[in-house]
Amino acid sequence: HLFRRAQFRLAAHELHQLPADHGAEIAFAGRSNAGKSTALNRICDQTGLARTSKTPGRTQQLVVFTLDETRRLIDLPGYGYAKVPNALRDHWRETIDGYMRGRRSLRGIVLIMDSRHPLKDFDRLMLTYCRDIGLRCHVLATKSDKLSRGEAARTLLATRREMASLCPGATVQLFSSLAKTGIDEARAVLMSWFED
Ligand code: GDP
Repeated sequence: HLFRRAQFRLAAHELHQLPADHGAEIAFAGRSNAGKSTALNRICDQTGLARTSKTPGRTQQLVVFTLDETRRLIDLPGYGYAKVPNALRDHWRETIDGYMRGRRSLRGIVLIMDSRHPLKDFDRLMLTYCRDIGLRCHVLATKSDKLSRGEAARTLLATRREMASLCPGATVQLFSSLAKTGIDEARAVLMSWFED
């Protein structure tokens, strides 16, 4: 599959460092520690592709992975640590805002949430951004292996219901990098965005 061909291209601190705005890209967003790096690695079937690192400096970078000549995945910086200073947060907002609004090749956002703590402030912010900009959004409610079947089903329904008002049209699925569930479903959504 296409995602197995993912290769690290560059890490950008500023938007002008990104590759030319041609072709198609899909960006991954999520609070720190939600499980974004692990999900990216699973989808691309490559352990160690997206590095799981907790340093605030690194969280400020947009990491670009190429799939082929025209298609890319972007690992957006997350936040969620109390210790991140306000100035960094402002820079984050500006960068992400600029990227999401200005990037013509951006096809949609994959938002990673810990299924045990869905729809935190960060997630609501991303969903309303997507709604305002008219960007597609697909949520991976990950670490679903930590929930019982019943809990997972209830979380999925409750999250879907709440998302319908935050960002109509956005979709959500259960995902587990550990149990390797939901991976094909996620790949299918990404492929449909690329092919569109
Ligand atoms: P990121 O900061 O969003 O990139 O989060 P990471 O991918 O580094 O994951 C944060 C922590 O959650 C790590 O300790 C992972 O091993 C763990 N984790 C990630 N995905 C899963 C999952 O599907 N199930 C479980 N049980 N743990 C996970």
